[in-house]
Amino acid sequence: MADRYLSFTGTPPGRFLTRRLGLPRPTALKRWSPGQPDLDGGLLHLTAGTSALDLAPVLATTGLAPDDDGRPAAVVLDATGVRDVDGLAAVHAALHPVVRSVTANGRIVVLGTPPDPDDHHQAAAQQALEGFTRSLGKETGRGTTVNLVRLAGAAPAAASTLRFLLSPKSAYLSGQVIGVGTGDDTPAAPPAEHPLAGRTALVTGAARGIGEAVAETLARDGAHVVVLDVPQAEEDAVRVAERLGGTPLPLDITAADAGRRILRALPDGIDVLVHNAGITRDRRLVNMPADRWNPVLDVNLASVLRTTDALLDAGALRPGGRIVATASIAGIAGNAGQTNYGASKAGIVGLVRSLAPRAHAAHGVTVNAVAPGFIETTMTAAVPLLIREAGRRMNSLAQGGLPVDVAETTAWLAHPDSGAVNGQVVRVCGQSLLGA
Ligand code: NAD
Repeated sequence: MADRYLSFTGTPPGRFLTRRLGLPRPTALKRWSPGQPDLDGGLLHLTAGTSALDLAPVLATTGLAPDDDGRPAAVVLDATGVRDVDGLAAVHAALHPVVRSVTANGRIVVLGTPPDPDDHHQAAAQQALEGFTRSLGKETGRGTTVNLVRLAGAAPAAASTLRFLLSPKSAYLSGQVIGVGTGDDTPAAPPAEHPLAGRTALVTGAARGIGEAVAETLARDGAHVVVLDVPQAEEDAVRVAERLGGTPLPLDITAADAGRRILRALPDGIDVLVHNAGITRDRRLVNMPADRWNPVLDVNLASVLRTTDALLDAGALRPGGRIVATASIAGIAGNAGQTNYGASKAGIVGLVRSLAPRAHAAHGVTVNAVAPGFIETTMTAAVPLLIREAGRRMNSLAQGGLPVDVAETTAWLAHPDSGAVNGQVVRVCGQSLLGA
C-alpha cells in the first residue's frame, strides 16, 4: 500500500501546503542498496569527558570517512566516561554545536555503559542518556535517527551494532536503547560481504510480507534460507525459495510435530532461526470468543515456545546460532481490539528475556526480538484508513516502515559479529509514540 502522503509532501506544492498547515513533513528515508551502501557524508567521533574506550579502530570498520566539511552524516558520542551530572554537561557541550549540521538521513549514536547498581551518581547519569537520546530523536527530523548503545565491555563487541546503526540499513530504527554485552576481545575485523555464507537460516511465515523480506536479506548476506509457511501458501513459498536459491518448507508451525518435521527437513542443523509467522484476529475482549483468542496465542507464542524448545533440546541450533523472535509495539504499548495479539507479543518479550542468558550459556546461541511498529504489509493494509494514517504518522519519522527495515534489523542480530547482543527487544518503529 503506497504512502501517497509521503510522495505528495516530497513535491514543491506538497512542501508548501504541509508547511502552511503545520502537517507532518516526513523525509523519504535512504535505505541500503548495493550501489549506495553508505550514508551520504563523513563520521564525527566525539567524546564527553574522558573515555577509556578504544573506539577508533571499530569506527574504521564502518567504511565512513572522518567528517571533513562540518556536515557529518554520522555522529558518535562516546559518553561511556560520564559518571555524574557534570559529565552530562559535557554531553550537551559536545552535541549542541553540531546537531544542526548533521545531514538529512543522518545518524547520531550515543555510547554509554549500563547503569551501575552500586553507584547512584553513575546510574543517574547513564540513565539520563536514555531520556536525552529519546528526546533528541523526537527533535532531529529530516530522517535522522538517534540511538543509545549501552556497552558493558570493550569496543569490538559493539562493532556490528555500530556498523548497523551508522548505515542506511537502520533507516527506521530510532529512539532505541540497545545493550551490548562484553563479548570476546577479538579486534573488530572489516565486514565481510557475505557474513552468513555457509549458514542455514529458517524463517517462519516467509512466503510474503516481513518474512519474505527477512529471507531475502539473509540470503543477500549469504545464508541458505528455508522458507517455511502454511501449506496453503506453498506456491508463494516455492516462488520465494526459488528466487533466493533456498528451500521451501510447507508446514503449519502450530502442528504438534512441527519441531520434529523441521529437524527431519534440516538434519545438519540451523544457524539462524527467525520466528516471524504471526496472525491477528482483532476484536475487543467483550466480543472475543475463544476461537479468536486461541489461534493468535498458538501461532504467535505457543508455537514459538514449542519449536524453540524442540530445536534447542535436540541440539539443532549450532554454536554461534541466533534466534530472532517477532514481538510488536502492540505487545509493549497495548492496543484496543488486540488483547489476544498484545498478550502473545508481550509473551515473546518475556520468552526472550528469560531464555537469552540460559541459551547463551548452554548452547552459545543468542536470543533477541524485533518489535515492529507500523510496517507497510498486507497485515497493515487491512487496517481501516484513518487508523492506518494515524499509525503511519505517529512516530518521529512520520511514516510507516518497510518490511526491509525489520529484515535489516534481523540480519544485524543474525550477524556472526553480534554475539554480544543478547536478550534485547529492538523496536523497529521509527520511534513510535506508542509505548515509548
Ligand atoms: P503477513 O500476514 O503479511 O505474513 C505472515 C505470514 O505468516 C504469512 O505468510 C502467513 O501465511 C504465515 N503464517 C501464519 N500462520 C502460520 C502458521 N501457523 N504456520 C506457518 N506460517 C504461518 O504479516 P506481516 O505483516 O509480514 O507480519 C510478520 C510478523 O511481524 C508477524 O509476527 C506480525 O505479528 C509481526 N508484526 C507485523 C507488523 C506490521 O506492521 N506489519 C507490526 C508488528 C509486528
